[in-house]
Amino acid sequence: LSILSISAPSTGVVTTDWMQNSTSVTVILYTRQKGLDARQVSTSIDGKLFHIRIYSDNWLRCYDYQIHLVEAVEPSCKVTVSLTTGKVELLLRKIQTALHWHKLGDLEDVSQGFQPLSQAPLFFRRAVLTRKLRVNHNVFLFTLTFPTGQDFYVPVGWHVQLKLSLEDGSALIRSYTPIVFDLPSCKTTECPSKTEASTSLHFLIKIYSAGPFTSALDRLAEGNSSIEVSFPTGNFLESQLENKNVIAIAAGTGITPLVRIAIDILRNNRRVTLVFFNRTQEDIIWKEEFRELELKYPDKFKVWHVLSEPDEEWLGLRGRISKSILATTILGGDCPDDGSNFACVCGPSDFILETLRLLDSAGYTNETVHAFSG
Ligand code: NAD
Repeated sequence: LSILSISAPSTGVVTTDWMQNSTSVTVILYTRQKGLDARQVSTSIDGKLFHIRIYSDNWLRCYDYQIHLVEAVEPSCKVTVSLTTGKVELLLRKIQTALHWHKLGDLEDVSQGFQPLSQAPLFFRRAVLTRKLRVNHNVFLFTLTFPTGQDFYVPVGWHVQLKLSLEDGSALIRSYTPIVFDLPSCKTTECPSKTEASTSLHFLIKIYSAGPFTSALDRLAEGNSSIEVSFPTGNFLESQLENKNVIAIAAGTGITPLVRIAIDILRNNRRVTLVFFNRTQEDIIWKEEFRELELKYPDKFKVWHVLSEPDEEWLGLRGRISKSILATTILGGDCPDDGSNFACVCGPSDFILETLRLLDSAGYTNETVHAFSG
């Protein structure tokens, strides 16, 4: 192995090294971030451009680092992280084996060190729309698949930005939370294969005929349409859920960030009460799957459906979010206010505001509620 210092070995925050043998190149970043794990390192290889993003401080800060490599590499990167020192090793495979590299390439310290995620540039990676499946009359499951060479993890409760380029040269950007397929069955949505799951992200998206983004998305053809996807962003801390039971209050597609949280909580043997607001029965996403989840976890999972525009046959709860609906569903005997509950809220902005107001008067605080908004 030859070990060489690269032209700009220190960025002030992260120092770097690299080494090579006949088949591979290893880039080493000394981040000094103790407790870092490999999921916090996202990489992207596009030709000779190697982009690395490292998240730290509970994912709330990030560091972007780009290398314009002198030679092309295979589009895959093995990431190894030392938990105790924060040393990150990135193993790249040479395309032209036996070719000796005289230097690694040109470094670009994009963010000049770790910076708050809110100030980080929005980097997008190209993905292809590989699948579009109908879930109900206006909600579809979109699967976006990345070319090999992309390595990323979306933390629980976090979202990405999707960017669509239009024919007139403009672009539209919207935020969406990827969904998981860990419900007991995926009857209305065919489960993707395990391999697909590691290279793809899946989004449940409602098509609004008057919505410029979703109607443009709806026109894309499966198989060859490209969409750009940002690095994950968000402010939800999974640690807030430690030892808590969860009250999930969702309206419409606002269910998307809450499903993964609910599944994680149930797996950890804690309770989830879901209050799910929709207009009509036809609008309820995954009604059967939630029923199966109740059967699978009879003492741990309970779903209440509330319809704002029910037909006459509907025997369940009716109306919009209100004090009396919360009293019936969560503030009554099912979820005693013993400090063990954490509430997660997502839906239209007025729905969120009203729900937060009601939870506030029921004694919930910033420490015991998270609203997924924006
Ligand atoms: P929708 O218009 O079909 O409404 C669903 C239910 O929400 C209604 O039945 C009603 O009970 C309630 N509701 C709607 N407007 C309300 C209001 N003004 N006041 C009180 N309650 C109200 O819902 P949709 O079209 O599926 O929209 C879902 C919303 O969730 C969108 O605004 C979307 O942006 C948001 N969302 C956010 C995230 C996130 O992570 N931040 C994720 C998914 C969806």
